[in-house]
Amino acid sequence: MPSLIINEIYRTISGEGASAGRPCTIVRLTGCNLRCLWCDTTYAYNEGRKMTVDEVLAEVQRLDAKLLLVTGGEPLLQTDTPELLGRLCDTGCEALLETNGSLDISGVDTRVVRCVDIKCPGSGQADSLRRDNLDCLRKTDEIKFVLADRSDYDFARELIESRDLTSRCTVFMTPAAGLLRPAELAEWILADGLQVRLGLQLHKIIWPEAERGV
Ligand code: SF4
Repeated sequence: MPSLIINEIYRTISGEGASAGRPCTIVRLTGCNLRCLWCDTTYAYNEGRKMTVDEVLAEVQRLDAKLLLVTGGEPLLQTDTPELLGRLCDTGCEALLETNGSLDISGVDTRVVRCVDIKCPGSGQADSLRRDNLDCLRKTDEIKFVLADRSDYDFARELIESRDLTSRCTVFMTPAAGLLRPAELAEWILADGLQVRLGLQLHKIIWPEAERGV
């Protein structure tokens, strides 16, 4: 029976991407293959309990979810994640997948919005991107760069321009909390005329003290 190791399932307000501000149910999976320097979900590396896909679906339905974000950790590390995503779409939910870009995203159900978090040098994981993933992007997909400084911005801009990312999907640039001022990032974006969206981590503004479950 298909099953997953689940870290947490809860209702919140979506904090990032095109869905920011909308009521959302988070399904956080356990385990990650990266170790980003400013990771704010280290508790998801190992903590979790086994649930069948049916049990996850039942919990999601109990929470009356219309919008679902499957995240981690790194959700694609678990072999039954694609099945979970497909089954969530079958229930009529909007399903989003947040992934760190290091694993193959091509097999994910076409109804799923894939949100690929491309790691910049400041994260310590800049070599993690699986470049093939940029070949199979869909218009509905989202790419996010979390930026700590100007070097991260230049890294992101180079990739955006060399792969024409802003005309192929929605691209977000988000300042790393406490490391880069949003106003500074805004100035860089405007100066270069980049057609990206400046993303703020809304959940950290709403619940600044919370360490999990937001
Ligand atoms: S990919 Fe995400 S969960 Fe994994 S270490 Fe980086 S920030 Fe943390």
